[in-house]
Amino acid sequence: MHLPTLIVITLLTNLLIGFYLSILYRRRPKDKCFKYWALSCGCFVFGISASVSRGYDVPAFFSFFVADFFLIVTAVLVLLGLIRFSRFRFTKAKRQRSIAILCLMTLALFFSYHSPALVTLVGSLSVAMLFIAGAWLIRHSVFNEPIYTGTLQFIFILHSVVLIVQAALVCFHWDNINYSGLPDQAIYTLLSHVTLTTLTALLLPWLSFLKLERSLTIKSQRDGLTKLANRTFFFSQVERHWLQYPQVKVVLMMIDIDHFKEINDKFGHHVGDIALKAVADIMSKGLRSHDLIGRIGGEEFAVILYNIELDVAQQIANRLCNQVMKQMAVIDGHNINLTISIGMVQVLPARNQIHGAFKVADEALYHSKHSGRNTVTLGQLNEVSSE
Ligand code: GH3
Ligand code: MG
Ligand code: MG
Repeated sequence: MHLPTLIVITLLTNLLIGFYLSILYRRRPKDKCFKYWALSCGCFVFGISASVSRGYDVPAFFSFFVADFFLIVTAVLVLLGLIRFSRFRFTKAKRQRSIAILCLMTLALFFSYHSPALVTLVGSLSVAMLFIAGAWLIRHSVFNEPIYTGTLQFIFILHSVVLIVQAALVCFHWDNINYSGLPDQAIYTLLSHVTLTTLTALLLPWLSFLKLERSLTIKSQRDGLTKLANRTFFFSQVERHWLQYPQVKVVLMMIDIDHFKEINDKFGHHVGDIALKAVADIMSKGLRSHDLIGRIGGEEFAVILYNIELDVAQQIANRLCNQVMKQMAVIDGHNINLTISIGMVQVLPARNQIHGAFKVADEALYHSKHSGRNTVTLGQLNEVSSE
């Protein structure tokens, strides 16, 4: 493709994406990543425009040093946006190390801008290093969305490889560098560089929508107070298990806080809310991470323990009752002496309907309530055909 045409298209595309990202930032100023990414598009446009001046009578300080400096800043801003986006823990030590590396890059660029080959070598290797850092950062980010992490990592590594190849071409053709600081053989690496930068800029808004969609999905599945699965999500997960693993036994527990109304009446709803959250935390910590816990009513919870022996499940249920009794004696300075009652049943999905299993667990819970509360009752299922 005709290089000047490609460069004009690249500049226009980056300007448009930068404009779009700045609109997103105006709408959601809390998401600082948009600000960094919008600025990175602006820096890229400026850096490339400055480097285009190499064919004209423009001082090398501007056409080489300033141009390459802005291209390095472009990569830095992409990384800063990613740090904000993925909530990467950018500690003080890491920050200081990064600033020191950036200062070194700038100095190396400054002392090499009189030699087109050397400045191109320094610029290419610096940006390649930054993109390798970007790939590492995505790998270590708390945000784990394979489409997002995989695509970006691939582009960043490809970009680094292209720039390293460009640097190698400069080394091999050191005495045969054209006015733009590149050997003629490097035309394809230059084309790849501008194309990959544009592709990265195009991906950035897409990533933020993925993240937004993910956070909305999680919010729609969780209960706001306890952060446990809400009723709808809990039952959808149970149905999924019934369909996918009909031969894997589960133990179903229904858990209800004892005399909770009295706690609200005596100490106020605020204390009641703290107690609910604390009971949920005890359950989350006391069960295995792959067990499913849901808040299915006001002060009612349901638990599915997957692939577990009945006696082990009974020990777990008794331990939960004891933990709640001990840890919930005093809350927020009030003697609330909170306890829970549990009804449980073992189920083989292939043999028992969901509805029937919950009914039996509920009856067992009812029995616990009538046996003085703070206790566990095991229910028995009559075997029925599956749904
Ligand atoms: P039992 O031992 O028989 O279960 O008695 P109980 O008082 O726990 O049962 P009841 O069903 O009479 O009362 C449940 C109470 O739970 C009533 C309601 O105000 C309270 N509740 C439900 N959801 C919440 C909540 O989100 N926060 C607070 N603070 N209270 C809640
Ligand atoms: Mg209750
Ligand atoms: Mg209840």
